[in-house]
Amino acid sequence: MATNYQEALEKGWATPVAKDTFTFSEDGKPHFVAAKCTHCGTAVFPAVLRCPNCFKADMTHTPLAAGGELKSFTVVRQGSPDWKGDVPYIIVQVTTDDGVKVSTQLLGCTPEQAEIGMRVTTDIRPLFNDAEDRQVLGPVFIPA
Ligand SMILES: [Zn+2]
Repeated sequence: MATNYQEALEKGWATPVAKDTFTFSEDGKPHFVAAKCTHCGTAVFPAVLRCPNCFKADMTHTPLAAGGELKSFTVVRQGSPDWKGDVPYIIVQVTTDDGVKVSTQLLGCTPEQAEIGMRVTTDIRPLFNDAEDRQVLGPVFIPA
């Protein structure tokens, strides 16, 4: 499925939710892109301009491991007035296999199936359509 999104991005049928949010490995697997401090090695997702650990502005972009472990989650049962997605939805905090904390949406399971400690993997999904009716793609986790 991710390969189709990669093609959609390349052909301009879709657009990423933000620049440098995710990339694809050669096998088509989506990877979230973090900012990594060249001074102290701290990695942060989403990317930031200044390191939250040493406060230096020497950040480079690095793809994160696709796999991770669900550390915490909450179920949102009523969206904000402008929310166009389904409810309920699940917001998770995941620690990737390279040790970076990432918060985003968990898709592909029900709130009852989500549990702390479960293995998840990165994916890309349409979040909404923009004014030009292109799919706006964002990073999510799905059960591994
Ligand atoms: Zn640093």
